[in-house]
Amino acid sequence: MKILKEKIRELKTNHSIRLTWGLISGGAFFLMYLFFTLLLIYNFKKWTLHNEKEELVELQVQIVNNLKQEGRQLDTQNIQKYINATPELGSEEKATENNHMDKGLSYPLKNISMYRQGYIVSIYNVEMQEIFSTQPHQYAVDRYRTDEVREVYENRKLTAFNDLMPVYSIFDEKELIGYVQVVNTLDRYEEMITHIHLLALILSTIVLLVSFGAGLLLSNSFMRPINRLISAMKEIQRNPESDIRLYEGKQANEIEKLAMTYNDMVDLMQRNIENQQQFVEDVSHELRTPISVVEGYLNMLNRWGKEDPNILEESITVSLQEIHRIKSMVQEMLSLSRAEQMMGRFTNDTTSLIEVVRQTHANFEMLYPDFLFTLDIDAKEPVIGQISQGHFEQILIILLENAVKYSKDRLEIHISLSTEIHYATLVIQDFGIGIGEKDLLNIFNRFYRVDKARSRASGGTGLGLPIAKQLIEGYGGTIQVDSVVDYGTIFRIRIPLAK
Ligand code: ADP
Repeated sequence: MKILKEKIRELKTNHSIRLTWGLISGGAFFLMYLFFTLLLIYNFKKWTLHNEKEELVELQVQIVNNLKQEGRQLDTQNIQKYINATPELGSEEKATENNHMDKGLSYPLKNISMYRQGYIVSIYNVEMQEIFSTQPHQYAVDRYRTDEVREVYENRKLTAFNDLMPVYSIFDEKELIGYVQVVNTLDRYEEMITHIHLLALILSTIVLLVSFGAGLLLSNSFMRPINRLISAMKEIQRNPESDIRLYEGKQANEIEKLAMTYNDMVDLMQRNIENQQQFVEDVSHELRTPISVVEGYLNMLNRWGKEDPNILEESITVSLQEIHRIKSMVQEMLSLSRAEQMMGRFTNDTTSLIEVVRQTHANFEMLYPDFLFTLDIDAKEPVIGQISQGHFEQILIILLENAVKYSKDRLEIHISLSTEIHYATLVIQDFGIGIGEKDLLNIFNRFYRVDKARSRASGGTGLGLPIAKQLIEGYGGTIQVDSVVDYGTIFRIRIPLAK
């Protein structure tokens, strides 16, 4: 559960980092898009304005070139023949011919369409009086500033180009005959820019929506497995026996690792639940026999035993024996339950193994004087095992007591301790009744006894070996057994050495 929580936390951090990066890169992409769009619009405007100015000058030069052929000062009368032919369609050829015949003009002004959209053309005499204009207007003229196209601003906004150009006689380059003013009111330009702004706005909105949508999709695809995990967790919470599991995938990314951890955790939890149920069943089954025995004797006493000293004596002795059995069973169950609880979080205690083995050996020699206990230590002192002293003693006692209990004729027990690079190996060998091949598979199961009657008689509960195994494995060690019926048994345990 702890690992899962850590994984989720790790995932959340990774997830938010990815999401932030997603947003940052999405935002950066949009800003870059905006920057290039604005740059493009800016350059386009500049280029278009330049073109508009050039077009104005071109038109103006054409008109001036036409008018200079008059050769004398322009006035309201002589300007007419340049202008008159202008608006009428169909009279084009005639007019051209007439003009050619009259004055030998190369172009009539009507060929240069002065009435184009966004342009105002005005013609002045040398006194700067307007003698013709395509439409009335307010654009000022300044006869002393004819060298460049003037920009007209209204509220700081460029609204027009205004240019005045002098017209000199074709016969005498110094003889001023009038002026031509051309104004470009930038109508077409304005129209085009409005369109482009609108287009850019629409495109930006689309790009913004698309990047936002892509971000959402991306974060959704990240969130989907997490949501699946959450719903699986809810399902397990509702029904702990549910066989719901997560798809683990093959890429081993964080989410798949999380799914694997989750599945392992649920498997472990369900195994634990099953184990617990089994344990409760086993315990009640095991306790039933001694309790029934005590109950039977008490009933017997109650009926006719109170006056009979023999029955009284027997009842009390047997009941005490059974109560003693119950007591030791309860104690061992507690011990097993503690060992199970400790699973995975055994202490960092270390123990001098040689010392404990020597001490326990001495105790057993004293307790069982009929037995021959040999002790063989094949290691240099000290041998420090990664195990608490109490637990190591407990394991030794369980194995030695079994060796004593299940010995038959040859009352001999060999104990040896040796070391390898990372482990210390303890071997306990007896020459007793042995264990059959089939039973060897089960002796580490709770309450398993090969010969119930014999084991009961010797006070066995079937809990010793499960406790020993649980403790040893909890410290990262191993336990192995070899046995031949009627010949004897060897238990080998390996305990990790302290680093
Ligand atoms: P018990 O309290 O019955 O001894 P254990 O869990 O210690 O329970 O042992 C389980 C069973 O394994 C025993 O009942 C016995 O049949 C068998 N066993 C354990 N140790 C030995 C041994 N050294 N020799 C023969 N049989 C053994």
